[in-house]
Amino acid sequence: ITTVRLILGDQLNAQHSWYKSQDHSLLYVIAEIKEEASYVRHHIQKVCAFFAAMQHFATALKSAGHNVLHLTLDDTADCKDMAALVAQICEQCCATAFEYQQPDEQRLHQLLSQCLLACEKHCYSTEHFLLEPEEFDSYITPAKHNRMEAFYRKMRKRFNILMREGKPEGGEWNYDSENRASLTKSDLSAIPEPLCFANDVGSALARIKYHNIATIGVAQENLLWPVNRRQANELLDYFCDYCLPLFGRFQDAMTSQSPHQWSLYHSRISFALNTKMITPRLVIVRALAAYNRGDSDISLAQVEGFVRQILGWREYIRAVYWQNLNTYHRQNILAAKRGLPQYFWTGKTKMRCMAHAIGQSLDTAYAHHIQRLMITGNFCLLAGISPDQVDEWYLGIYIDALEWVELPNTRGMSQWADGGWVATKPYCSSGNYINKMSDYCKGCHYDVKKKVGDGACPFNSLYWSFINRHVQQFSRIPRMTMVYSNWKKKDKSEQQAVLAQAANYLDNIESL
Ligand code: SF4
Repeated sequence: ITTVRLILGDQLNAQHSWYKSQDHSLLYVIAEIKEEASYVRHHIQKVCAFFAAMQHFATALKSAGHNVLHLTLDDTADCKDMAALVAQICEQCCATAFEYQQPDEQRLHQLLSQCLLACEKHCYSTEHFLLEPEEFDSYITPAKHNRMEAFYRKMRKRFNILMREGKPEGGEWNYDSENRASLTKSDLSAIPEPLCFANDVGSALARIKYHNIATIGVAQENLLWPVNRRQANELLDYFCDYCLPLFGRFQDAMTSQSPHQWSLYHSRISFALNTKMITPRLVIVRALAAYNRGDSDISLAQVEGFVRQILGWREYIRAVYWQNLNTYHRQNILAAKRGLPQYFWTGKTKMRCMAHAIGQSLDTAYAHHIQRLMITGNFCLLAGISPDQVDEWYLGIYIDALEWVELPNTRGMSQWADGGWVATKPYCSSGNYINKMSDYCKGCHYDVKKKVGDGACPFNSLYWSFINRHVQQFSRIPRMTMVYSNWKKKDKSEQQAVLAQAANYLDNIESL
């Protein structure tokens, strides 16, 4: 062995040029490390999914004739971190070179770029994303707002996706206005049954327990998430066949009245994508092929909404993260400092929308973007929860959460702690929006129509108290003008009653 090549748990890209030919002077290392499994409290399904996917990848590489060293927690128990393991293996093999793929997270980027080795060190592209890091400067300016829509249009043109003779297909760039429907009773029975796998992760669960890794959420012996390329492809095909026709239309909808309420029309391919089992190019090509099929029942609005997530939002968020690398995690422009309530770890709250979003997250390690943004995220924003604690919760609980995607989505888009680098205005709402997009409010302990008094929906008074508290920051934002004029129109006694209600709720936040 002359060269040690490290494969991180989120670098399971079988099509990487590394694997084009077999070379017996190369050793591929895939390792479970306690530090990686516990730098935040992860959902237990997430740890199992990573371990199982790494195991499958190692096995596939071995069968393809590569030298592979797959280490479990049992083998690496004495290693402090990934850098220590790399140093140990390079020394044992007398390697003349260490090679790794560019980590997506700053934490691992620093660790690997700074680790001191006796041999040469080379870093390669992951060959996964559409944009390479050298290109970020021409797309995203650090520490300022960069419009996602402008980024997305540039990407559409550059990669010639949904374009006709230089113009957007159908004449519009964005069909979001057609994609905001809520689910009516008659829509519920049509929601497709989600494709779930049943991967035996018993041995991973035993290792997690034996090595005392603190986790959250409900464990599954038979893991529903895809853990190899074949399953990732099946999930993608299933989405294109059964969910894409109504994906955009119901992408913001929420319900508690379907056995498939947790998945609806969402693709749930984010774990497969973020571990690089499949590429964004493949995902886009498949979605477009399904749209272009002769008998397709997928409209342009549906496929455009999906392409926007993959080609636009996902690449945009990654570029924003890397362009603000050392500063993003310190942003807290709204000076939010309240602790995260305990019910985020149990789902035990009287707020039905919160109980659903949190309970589902604990059960499945998944919630869709509107549950994350407009239920739990909205609540944290309105209540002034410390973004450090919000980040930690989101980074730990979701199957697809890696810092590069979690941080700008949570601290930026959801908590507005960056002062508008991602979102032009804070994404906040009263109970009214939740009532419009879901059926959560029916049967809730609280009354969504009430702002004050017994049983008033907490989102209502918290919303106005948030608006009032941040008048300095928000009143100059054009898209907030209407909100402030509505607040000013309320008479003083009504304003005071709403603010008193919010203060009372915040003082008793644990018992909401
Ligand atoms: Fe949530 Fe308020 Fe509706 Fe209850 S009434 S589900 S707390 S928005």
